[in-house]
This record gives sequence, structure tokens and C-alpha cells, in this order.
Amino acid sequence: MTYRGVVLDVDGTVVRGDEPIPGAAEGLDRLGRAGLRRLFVSNNPTKRPPAYAERLRRAGFDAHPDEIVTAGTITTDYLADNHADDVLFVVGEDALVDQLTDAGLSVVADEARADTVVVSIDRTFDYDRLCAALRACDDEAVTLVGTDPDMVIPAAEGDLPGSGAIINAVAGVVGRDPDVMLGKPSEPAQRVVREYLDLPPADCLVVGDRLDTDIALGERAGMTTALVRTGVTDDRDLERSDVQPDYVLDSLADVATIL
Ligand SMILES: [Mg+2]
Repeated sequence: MTYRGVVLDVDGTVVRGDEPIPGAAEGLDRLGRAGLRRLFVSNNPTKRPPAYAERLRRAGFDAHPDEIVTAGTITTDYLADNHADDVLFVVGEDALVDQLTDAGLSVVADEARADTVVVSIDRTFDYDRLCAALRACDDEAVTLVGTDPDMVIPAAEGDLPGSGAIINAVAGVVGRDPDVMLGKPSEPAQRVVREYLDLPPADCLVVGDRLDTDIALGERAGMTTALVRTGVTDDRDLERSDVQPDYVLDSLADVATIL
């Protein structure tokens, strides 16, 4: 099969923390030589695309910020398209808030003013923040938005709680699920990918380490999917999952075998 575009996950596929994953450099080289248009899509909203490019550079990979999309980007685009006039209350980190405000969206510190509550990974999350989120969602009309469903993020020191963990805490206390969950594999994420690659889905490949986000995104978008075993998914997860990739690769280096 000749592919013309590829969607690449970052954490667990290309890097772990700031370290390159063995085989990733070889795989990226191979994809580059095959002339595939590439887009890195990460569900980690703690860094903006330029900071992500810098992180990839530290791991030895050259990537332009324009070819990187994060859950922060997808959330910002979604809110700008659908809730442009809403007052936002954010449980999330500074990079996400900056991304939202740079797009002209209104983020407030006073939870009582919120029309929409955006919840994401927040490494300073505490009881007071949970109280504020609960008060913000007091009005049933308030829209509850999650940036991405990832429960954990693979890091150099092991897995860390991700956005999904914080979103679950808020959803639990508020007593309702998010109205919208962005990031992979959401429809808004699929749209961003389709618009960027601008290719028929059948000509595109999605490579990632997660079944419920990366592989699900590719499946829903009609693209060929490849799971790499360098991240969070082990054989048991694969056996138990309803989401099945078209290919399973030991690492990104093996992408050569399916091009
Ligand atoms: Mg990953």
C-alpha cells in the first residue's frame, strides 16, 4: 500500500519524557524518505506546539510547530467555533489558558461567571480547585468540556495521571459526564487531521500506542491504523479491546514493513 499521509502520536510512540523511543528515529526517517505528509497529534495539552517542537528537538527530532497539534489546539479551535462568546472557567495549566486567551476567548478566575467549564490535566489541582469546579457547574446550563480522555501520560519516571483523571474527579463530584470530550479520537480531532493532511483517508496511516485514542481515531476517520508496542498498550490490553489496529509494530522502526 502506498500511503501519502501519516498521523503520528508523540508520547509513547516517538518520545517518553524528553527521551527518544528506540526505533523512532529510524521510523521517522523512513516515513520522510517515503514522502508522507505528517502530522503529530498529541492528547497532552500541557505544552503548546512550539514547546512541543522544542521537546522533540531535545529528543533529537526535527519538527516544525505547524506540523504539531495538541488537545489544547483542538480544544481552542472547538471553543472558538462553537462557544466563542462564552465566559470560560478553566481547570488546567497555564499553557492551555494562554492558548485559549490568544485565540480571543474569555477565561475568568471567578467560577460563578462561567458559561463553559473546561477541564484538563492540572498538576497543581487540589481540593479548592475541585470545589470551584463544583460551584462552576452548579447551573445545569453550564457546558462541561474535557480536553482529552487520557487517564495517564507515559513519562520518563513512569505513567502520570493525565486529563482523564482530573476530568473524572470533576465529573464525579458534579454528577454528570462532560458534554464534549475533545482530543483524540473526537470528531473535532478527526476534522483537524483531515483538514491538515488534505488527503483521502484511505491514503493515510495513523500510528500510536493507545487503542482508545490513536487507533480509535484512525478507525473512525477511515484510515489504516498501526499500534506500536513502545507505549501504554500491552498484549493483554490488545486482547481485551474492542478497538483493533490493522497492524501491530514492535516500534516505529517497523513502519517500514507496512509502507
Ligand atoms: Mg501516546
